[in-house]
Amino acid sequence: MLNLVLFGPPGAGKGTQSNLLIDKYNLVHLSTGDILRGEIAAGTALGLEAKTLMDKGDLVPDKIVIGMISSKLDNNPTANGFIFDGFPRTAAQATALDTLLSGKGTAISAMLSLKVEDAELIKRLLERGKESGRADDKNESIIANRINEYNNKTAPLKEFYAAQNKLSEIEGVGSITDIAQKLNTVIDSL
Ligand code: ADP
Repeated sequence: MLNLVLFGPPGAGKGTQSNLLIDKYNLVHLSTGDILRGEIAAGTALGLEAKTLMDKGDLVPDKIVIGMISSKLDNNPTANGFIFDGFPRTAAQATALDTLLSGKGTAISAMLSLKVEDAELIKRLLERGKESGRADDKNESIIANRINEYNNKTAPLKEFYAAQNKLSEIEGVGSITDIAQKLNTVIDSL
């Protein structure tokens, strides 16, 4: 199986690149942000709980997102592999993911980490907010909180995967196709 963690701060381009990778490598895309927004749209109790936190740019509790990923893995028993986008975001999530995958006789193949400067992230997210209608893309102080959450809780996961020799860092600025090419080169070398 090919199991990739597509990593990087909010606005790094994880969603855009995931969409290219799922087609090229025939993978299932698991974006916890998309799944949570689906729950909000469906008006579930889980969605209601998540919305308050997401709108502020805070992380949703580990237990919720780990449970969502666990059931998605169970629901896709014949997948060729998965792209994890926006997950894991904390040490507890990374550990849980390793346990879930090893229970299925597989593991993470690589973490692909997109590197983008803060000023560029803020610019991209404010731009996206004009179209997406996402509450968390509209306001610069909420965006700053998301970047803060990333730096404090999520960025340290690079060390977790580096310790397993699975980390590749890729420059996330440039054309979409150039960045895709760089990702493909890393994946093809696995
Ligand atoms: P972005 O990467 O642009 O911030 P996402 O769609 O990945 O967008 O995430 C949006 C929000 O959803 C996050 O700010 C957070 O509130 C919540 N969320 C998504 N994934 C997770 C996760 N793995 N753990 C905790 N919260 C999450």
